[in-house]
Amino acid sequence: MKAPVAVLGAGTMGTGIAHVFAQYGHPVAWVEIEQSRWEKALNTVSQNIDRQIKKGSLSPEDKEPILNRLRFYSELSSAVQNVELVVEAVPEDLELKISVWREVSKHAPEQTIFATNTSSISITQLAAQVKRPERFIGMHFMNPVPVMRLVEVIKGLQTSDATVEAIMDWARSLNKEPILVQDYPGFISNRVLMPMINEAIYALYQGVATREAIDSIMKLGMNHPMGPLELADFIGLDVCLAILKVLYEGFGDPRYAPCPLLVKMVQAGYLGRKSGRGFYEYN
Ligand code: NAD
Repeated sequence: MKAPVAVLGAGTMGTGIAHVFAQYGHPVAWVEIEQSRWEKALNTVSQNIDRQIKKGSLSPEDKEPILNRLRFYSELSSAVQNVELVVEAVPEDLELKISVWREVSKHAPEQTIFATNTSSISITQLAAQVKRPERFIGMHFMNPVPVMRLVEVIKGLQTSDATVEAIMDWARSLNKEPILVQDYPGFISNRVLMPMINEAIYALYQGVATREAIDSIMKLGMNHPMGPLELADFIGLDVCLAILKVLYEGFGDPRYAPCPLLVKMVQAGYLGRKSGRGFYEYN
């Protein structure tokens, strides 16, 4: 049997992360406080496995063993007791993540590695909440996790080289490409991506072009698979706003100031695909 892991959260990212660990043979203790989400999360994994079977990357006999490796828990104290790795994907909220990590640190074995999937919160600050900060690291998967190869690995100030090596090996064992970066606001992925999305929103706000024109220019001219406004809807406009705020506050630089149109859309509850409306409308 492969090393057991715990995944915290069964939302967009936790579901993909649990799927991938189970696919590569690891028993997953899956913690989700909202029990009403368990069934939906399992259905999502099941549908995504069907998609992989259709594409030929999995065979039909793989399905049941993968699903059998997923076991839900509502309490993290019992879930983390015998695992070698904890990957946290609870919402992007500093206070919540701090309380979750303090709790994990109380109950997990001494040698367990702690990884957070945060998009923008300081790894160094989260590491300071646990008993062994040298074993704490950022493991930033991309959405959709079963499809995207990149894992951005973020080394906090306290993270040891041994923890970096271990997490790079974990990522490779899941057929991912880990890339190491240092802990500064937005890391690399969001530090480069979010200003581009914000600029596209500014261009729309100033009436430079329509949403379709902005997205088409980036797709046809720059070979991006999705335009920046479509991508913002896919990520979630609330998530984009939260990350821009982290960049703005972290660097104290006005070039990261979120566009007023983005702020207004989040206030209106237009959060992108997940709410049915963002820069585009969804059914
Ligand atoms: P989400 O809101 O879809 O899911 C979070 C889940 O965590 C929810 O189901 C919630 O009920 C659960 N939860 C809340 N408190 C919990 C607790 N104490 N214990 C266990 N479960 C708990 O969020 P998401 O989009 O999956 O994002 C999760 C993390 O991944 C965030 O840090 C986010 O920044 C990061 N991230 C998101 C994306 C993305 O595209 N959505 C990409 C990369 C990284």
